[in-house]
Amino acid sequence: MKIEIKNLTKTYSGGFKALDSVDLTITNGMFGLLGPNGAGKSTLMRILVTLMEPTSGQVLVDGKDISTYRKEIRKMVGYLPQDFRFFAKLKSWEFLDYAARLGGMNSKKERGMRVDEMLESVGLYEFRNRMANKLSGGMKRRLGIAQALIASPSMIIVDEPTTGLDPEERIRFRNLLSDLGRSETIIILSTHIVGDISSTCNQMALLNEGSLIYNGTPDHLVEQAEGFVWRTEVSQEVYDTLKTEVPIISTIPSGGGWEVQFVGDLPPGIEAMKVDPNLEHAYVHYMDNKLEHWNLK
Ligand code: ADP
Ligand code: MG
Repeated sequence: MKIEIKNLTKTYSGGFKALDSVDLTITNGMFGLLGPNGAGKSTLMRILVTLMEPTSGQVLVDGKDISTYRKEIRKMVGYLPQDFRFFAKLKSWEFLDYAARLGGMNSKKERGMRVDEMLESVGLYEFRNRMANKLSGGMKRRLGIAQALIASPSMIIVDEPTTGLDPEERIRFRNLLSDLGRSETIIILSTHIVGDISSTCNQMALLNEGSLIYNGTPDHLVEQAEGFVWRTEVSQEVYDTLKTEVPIISTIPSGGGWEVQFVGDLPPGIEAMKVDPNLEHAYVHYMDNKLEHWNLK
């Protein structure tokens, strides 16, 4: 399947432009939407799941405009909002059963089997009788993920799903999503955490202040930072100047000064060694360029 986002703009009622002429095509597989807080990720996701109308532009799913085919689109979508909350007074399994019913699963028997299966896959089976709002933070997230997946959606949209998870749960969650990579499924994962992208996504986009500043593979983004990542040892004095000139990404005490890694053009007078960039470096490099050269696109 294919999602085509065309010239999408969202201006909120106060006049704030949260999305600015976004063009993006997303095909089967796991798609990572990376950007800092306020970039417009949640806005984009709410539009994709038809909870909100864009100000202008359109979204086509397999050629169908989602504002015309709202009902059909909603049936295809599994959504985990960023601020996901549970209804009080429902046990974990009841909550999933409810979600499955909303997702159009009418057979009680079929739902029962699916609920158990989902509880197993997110590791909550032994907590199935616990009230959903009494689960720990990480468990609540997992139940949230289970409700998004229970009706076997072909468009899975999860907004900052790893926030608040501990490292072990984060890895478990990434694996759960990767396992879902069925052929006719699109998974869109938004995050401000670079590490969420590198391990799982075959395609990604970088959103900043409502504008799309990168769209491609994580590897290609990394290549963009080639030749812009440096390591050097500097005195305290040089360090103090350097940090006003370039984004410093790591600092380790060394001798009387610092061993630092930084991103960008090599400032005059500094000797440094090139470092092979990773996605984190590339992210810093891109964001820094965006701030400096406003019209990067
Ligand atoms: P992200 O999810 O990337 O953090 P959001 O889409 O939540 O970004 O928000 C993008 C921008 O739009 C932010 O500056 C935010 O303050 C603003 N915004 C979000 N929702 C509203 C709203 N309902 N009314 C006005 N401004 C909003
Ligand atoms: Mg958000």
